[in-house]
Amino acid sequence: MAEKRDYYEVLGVSRNASDSELKSAYRKLAKKYHPDTNPGNQEAEAKFKEASEAYAVLSDPEKRRQYDQFGHAAFEGGAGGAGGFDFSSMDMGDIFGDIFGDFFGGGSRSRSRSSGPMKGQNIRTSVRISFHESCFGVDKEIDIVLKDECAACHGTGAKPGTSPQTCPKCGGKGQVVFTQQSLFGVVRNVQSCPDCHGTGKIIKERCPDCGGSGYISRKRNLSVSIPAGIDNGQCVRIRDKGEPGVNGGGRGDLLVEVIVGNDPIFKRQDMDIYSTVPITFTKAALGGDIRIKTIDGEVMYTVKAGTQTDTRVRLRGKGVPSLRNKQVRGDHYVTLVVQIPTKMTALQREQLMEFDKVMYGEQEEHTEDPKPKKKGIKRKK
Ligand SMILES: [Zn+2]
Ligand SMILES: [Zn+2]
Repeated sequence: MAEKRDYYEVLGVSRNASDSELKSAYRKLAKKYHPDTNPGNQEAEAKFKEASEAYAVLSDPEKRRQYDQFGHAAFEGGAGGAGGFDFSSMDMGDIFGDIFGDFFGGGSRSRSRSSGPMKGQNIRTSVRISFHESCFGVDKEIDIVLKDECAACHGTGAKPGTSPQTCPKCGGKGQVVFTQQSLFGVVRNVQSCPDCHGTGKIIKERCPDCGGSGYISRKRNLSVSIPAGIDNGQCVRIRDKGEPGVNGGGRGDLLVEVIVGNDPIFKRQDMDIYSTVPITFTKAALGGDIRIKTIDGEVMYTVKAGTQTDTRVRLRGKGVPSLRNKQVRGDHYVTLVVQIPTKMTALQREQLMEFDKVMYGEQEEHTEDPKPKKKGIKRKK
């Protein structure tokens, strides 16, 4: 796949653009590249899709936050065909309704409703896991509401013994078409039929079990297997647990977005982990062994003599496992922060001053010198 452009760049707005700036930027692009104004122009269509995707993400505060944090990676990856930016499942109707509503006369470029089999919509939900669980994988129970075909009416919505009638308004097509003068010429507008709401059928007597919807909603408990290495905002796809299909089409999928809780110690970036560890100033000066917490537990690490504060050390292979291969892991970077004592006894102070005298010479000299230590050491030679 070609390198994806930055969403802000696509829309030509700054990273702190307001909602209305985003909207007007998208509106401009959408008008320019809309397939209805560029029939058969594939480049325009690609641009239109790119802008729509960018707007779909940035206009959703949660998705925008994830994008700001992780970039495109927020919607990519995922194990076993999971995750990814699922453009098809976004309700583009909502977006178009929002954007074009006023000049398309309230209609949106709805996906065509055909009478053939149609796969059901995907369902989205989310699950919270801990940082540790994200590193090693976990099975989580989730509750979702799943629609099933009503057994009494077999999904028709009509009272058993009766059957739905073909909608006279749309002739069973479920759509009404009309042309309209808009800002950029005549637009052929397809709308869902207002009488049958796009089903093409009118139900005279409703099925008492499902109230005419043809579906029964039931709460289900599912176990979701979340793979090791999953990052915040990535999705696990569970096939065929979405909305039921229409006219014999398969069910949509369930997309479970994984929200990873913050860890008090570890921060993650890609497959690497970052943490800070305090060390005493004597340990920093003299060197020695310290314990460092990693996601695998504590490890011993030998600090070199003369370690400066904010020194970063790398623990190879102690990072987060790859989603694709658990054996491949990132690294763990530890920043060693030298602790300067804030409280000392009189004796400790005295000893430290003694040390200071031996190390740096008379006090007057080094208080005026911004780098007393090196000079002091050199002078001793
Ligand atoms: Zn029913
Ligand atoms: Zn109709």
